[in-house]
Parts: sequence; structure tokens; C-alpha cells
Amino acid sequence: MIAIIGGGLAGLACALELKRAGREFALLEAAANFGGRQRTSQKDGFTLDHGFQVILSSYEVVGVVCDIPSLRPRWFESGAWTFDGQRLTRLESPFTNPIGALTSPIFTIGDKLRLGLLGAELLLTPCSRLLARCADSRDISTRAFLQRRGFSKSFISRFAQPFFGGVLLDNELETSAGLFSYYLKKFLTGRAWIPSGGIQALPESLAAQLPSSSLHLGSRVTALAPNCVQLENGELFPADRIILALDDPSLRILLGLPPPSAPRQVAVVYFKTQTSLYTNPCLILPEGSNLRVRHFVQITNIAPEFAPAGWHLVSATVLDSTGLEADELAEAAAHEIAAVFPRAAGTLQHLETIQVPYAIPSQPPGFAGRKAIPDLPQNVYACGDWEHGASIQAALNSGIETAKRVLRG
Ligand SMILES: Cc1cc2nc3c(=O)[nH]c(=O)nc-3n(C[C@H](O)[C@H](O)[C@H](O)COP(=O)(O)OP(=O)(O)OC[C@H]3O[C@@H](n4cnc5c(N)ncnc54)[C@H](O)[C@@H]3O)c2cc1C
Repeated sequence: MIAIIGGGLAGLACALELKRAGREFALLEAAANFGGRQRTSQKDGFTLDHGFQVILSSYEVVGVVCDIPSLRPRWFESGAWTFDGQRLTRLESPFTNPIGALTSPIFTIGDKLRLGLLGAELLLTPCSRLLARCADSRDISTRAFLQRRGFSKSFISRFAQPFFGGVLLDNELETSAGLFSYYLKKFLTGRAWIPSGGIQALPESLAAQLPSSSLHLGSRVTALAPNCVQLENGELFPADRIILALDDPSLRILLGLPPPSAPRQVAVVYFKTQTSLYTNPCLILPEGSNLRVRHFVQITNIAPEFAPAGWHLVSATVLDSTGLEADELAEAAAHEIAAVFPRAAGTLQHLETIQVPYAIPSQPPGFAGRKAIPDLPQNVYACGDWEHGASIQAALNSGIETAKRVLRG
């Protein structure tokens, strides 16, 4: 029997691969639902994702593990709107709208040329090579990379920081330039979408393909022993192979290792409003390093079913909420949104604030080349988004690759 511990994307993808190979397995998940960090809840008829998460059409593996049309994708428009404190300006994707991107007033001519050159380079570089850079000792931070390539301060503060700061949950752009390049390529070649049922519909669609007799919710593993795992209730679960498909902090607890350093956290502040702020299905990027809100979106412009009829749902992503009580954070977020859309003043009603204390691991330059965990016993394997870069695609691939390793023996 193969025991997979953890029912997030990595564990579910691993289970699917074992099922395809006709192998018996048991998937042990501590929580009451599958999905791990891809969680969605409901409140007063609103659909609330626990953190702003999007799937990219360039994540090839998503179409391998699930039937995308059955998730009823709701598409974002390529590009975004930036706000410089005075005015909203459309930011076009150079690949879906090259003319719009070339004539955009946001970037200098030099930045446009540099971005075009970088984009072309990335298109010609396989993703595997970009990810390999994350393991290279010569890897540098995203900020240093952009500076070295000659991008202007305004490119960094008006685009890279609000957009990629929000993607990498890293306001200072200290994350690996290899990973940034990989994400930039994925954004340039794909479009973002969310399932109509919220982000948790993705892992749920994977779980639905697995035999229910193999699925064990509410089964927290507390210890590993030779040929078995121990559950919280003391029960021993026999297993000749054990796959740890855990988030980094849980993996470290189970292996008796110190907690991970500097993980990225995030808070999402939800507002409901009966006054639509804007109509485009895209993200708003306010500029300024002293702002709490890194980006926000009227998510019902993309997925109208996320709110009851007559209402709009606004989701604001906050990377640093330290020092603020929940009501102070909501007030600050509402104030910053109203600076962009004055009609929001007095109409936004705070619905919920969801804190995600562990969102993704810290991914500094060269992170993938460092040994994340010590050698495991011969029958124990590990996978998860901490391996090759935190993303939906990386978590799924990590689960599939680990299942293949187990099958090879
Ligand atoms: C706020 C936020 C925004 C994000 N945005 C994006 C995005 O836009 N695009 C993108 O590509 N990626 C995004 N990501 C990253 C992506 O969601 C993750 O990389 C991915 O979901 C991780 O999957 P995983 O299976 O590796 O880990 P997890 O989802 O953490 O799964 C681990 C599972 O193990 C279970 N578990 C833990 N301990 C035990 C135990 N002892 N016994 C049994 N079970 C246990 C947990 O309950 C959990 O279900 C985002 C993540 C967050 C949090």
C-alpha cells in the first residue's frame, strides 16, 4: 500500500498518477476538505477565495489532470490598469496587444525595447531552462535582474513591483530572477482564469476522479514509522511506501526540522458593494511602496456568480498587514481603493478579511539548488510546491514526478 500524506494539488496529482498506473494508494488529508492552500468559502452568498489565485492557460499540466471546460473558466482580460495617484492607465500585454503595448504611455521607449527583447528571449528559452536558473548559484534577485537589464525606476515601481510583487507575494522583489523569468514567460504566453466555483474547484475536480475508498479526510498524520504512519487518533496505517505531499511548515514538523525561514504571508480583504467600481475584467495596480493594497480587483467583473444578484465583490490583496487590527486594515484598504475610484467612498462594505499566514515559501536567488530537506529513508518520498517554485503548475508537476519515481521503484 502507498500512503500519500496531504491532499493539496501535489498529493492529488500524485494520487491521480498512481491511479492511472493501476496502483493502490490511500490519500490521508488532515483537513475536512481537499485542496490545501486552494481554499474557497461562502459567506452571505459571496464566493471568497482564500487569497487571490489565478490559473494560467500556459500551465500545460492543468489540462492533463482535469477537464478544464467542466470548471467553467472565467477569464481575465490580458493586461491591467495602473494608477499613479492621478490617473488610471491601461497596461497592455505586448503579446496579445503588441501595438497597444508599444504605444502605452506607462513605459519609456527604452523600457519597451528592453521588455520586447526580454520577452523574445524568454519565448526562445524552454521553461525547464528558466527553472534551472533558480538552482544556479549565479541567480540574482528580481530587482537586481531588472536593474542589470537597464529597466527604469518607473518600470519597476509602476509595473514590476505592483504586479510581480503581488504574484510572488514579495514587495521588495527579492525573489529569484529565474523564477520571475519563468512567471513572466507564463504570463506573456497565457491568460489568467478562475473556475466559476472558486479556486478550490480545481483540487476538488482532481479528488472527484479518485476512488472514494482511497480518500481519507480528517486524517492527520503525526508520526512516521517503518512500514506505517501514525494518525492523530493513535491509529497505525500500514504503508510500504510513504509520500509526503505537504506544505513546507507541515513537512518540517513531521520530519522534526526547524520551521521554514521568512515564508510569504498575505491577507485578502473582501468588500461588497452595490455600486460597480469599473467594468473591465482585469486587475488594478495602485503604485506606491507605502500602500497596504498591492492590487485589487472587482472579481465579479470576471466571475459574476461570485456575488448574489445586484452585488459586486471586490478583493484587495495586502502583503503587509502588521500593526493593524482587522477593522483598521479594512478601513485602510477601502481608503486606498477609493483613492482610485472615488465612487467607492462610502459604498464599500467590509465583508471579510482572510489572513493566510503561510501562503508560499520564500524563494530567494538560487533557492532550488539548496537542499530543502535531509535525505529521507528509502521508502519515503516528498513533494510539494516548496521543491521547484510555488505555483499551481509546480505543485501538480511535483506530485506527478514523485508518483513516477515511486512507480520506478
Ligand atoms: C494566497 C495564495 C495565492 C496564490 N496564488 C497563486 C497563483 O495565482 N497562481 C499559482 O500558480 N499559484 C498560486 N499560489 C500557490 C499555489 O496555490 C500552491 O503552490 C499550491 O496550492 C500548493 O499545493 P501543495 O499541494 O504543494 O501544498 P498544500 O496545498 O499546502 O497541500 C498540503 C496539504 O497537506 C495537508 N497536511 C498538512 N499536514 C498534514 C498532516 N500532518 N497529515 C495529513 N495532511 C496534512 C494540508 O492540510 C494540505 O491539504 C498561491 C498560494 C496562496 C496561498
